[in-house]
Amino acid sequence: MADQLIRATAANGGIRAVGVITTRLTEEARLRHQLSFVATAALGRTMAAALLFASSMKREGSRVNIRIKGDGPLGGILVDGGLDGTVRGYVEHPDVELPPTPQGKLDVGGAVGHNGYLYVIRDVGYGYPYSSTVELVSGEIGDDLTHYLATSEQTPSALIVGVFVDETGVIASGGLVIQVLPKAARDEELVELLEARLANLAGFTTLLRSGKSLQDIFEQLLGDIGLEILPEVQLVRFHCGCSHEKVLGALKLFGQAELQDMIEQDQGAEATCDFCGMKYQATEAELVQLLAEMRAESSR
Ligand code: ZN
Repeated sequence: MADQLIRATAANGGIRAVGVITTRLTEEARLRHQLSFVATAALGRTMAAALLFASSMKREGSRVNIRIKGDGPLGGILVDGGLDGTVRGYVEHPDVELPPTPQGKLDVGGAVGHNGYLYVIRDVGYGYPYSSTVELVSGEIGDDLTHYLATSEQTPSALIVGVFVDETGVIASGGLVIQVLPKAARDEELVELLEARLANLAGFTTLLRSGKSLQDIFEQLLGDIGLEILPEVQLVRFHCGCSHEKVLGALKLFGQAELQDMIEQDQGAEATCDFCGMKYQATEAELVQLLAEMRAESSR
């Protein structure tokens, strides 16, 4: 099934639900960054969440960045997802692998670390991103993001994200978020019913692997409480907006002395985009021009 995102409502608009399948884009990230199993799961979960978060934003061009900085061997995770259905991201140490947990699961919490912070930055395109931070709960990412939604957004929410990967690659990946909006939040029976159903839901990737569609999963969860699935199916994909010009511009961060070194010693530079792994070559002439621009800027 193609990577896609669908939206639904239930309980006369009191419940909002979004589901996303990200199997192919998670596989693309795995190949681009040569991710270990546990790194694939960590990045895949975060990418699915970024798409789910971005889906609730209104203004065209809106994006969500999720940064996770735990004390585990994987290092930091950075993901950038947009309302337009594009997502990109990377982990600091993509080759870290850990033995499975006693339950036979990928040890995402151990790799990310149980202590640290989760940052969510929402940018609606006005140039003043809105940012908030919570402490990690377990490093398993799903729990941490649910905790973020409960504390920062103050909307009763359930979020499930999952990635199933084996020797052949990513077999299933995606997630869903269900939010109880203020007009239904006082309906305690409804909230309890939803909690019970989500607790009984087999893992998200288990459902996908058994051939269930997002529509089937919504039907199972909300079918008898006024489910309305919106007709639009949005395609989602891994996409990085980097370019030769942008990466060249980023070389300015190294400073004039370092650029001078690159010109004299290496007669050029190779720069890699962290988000997608694309390599860019800067020629000596380009570096000379960049340095001249910097000198002109600093003498103003
Ligand atoms: Zn890139």
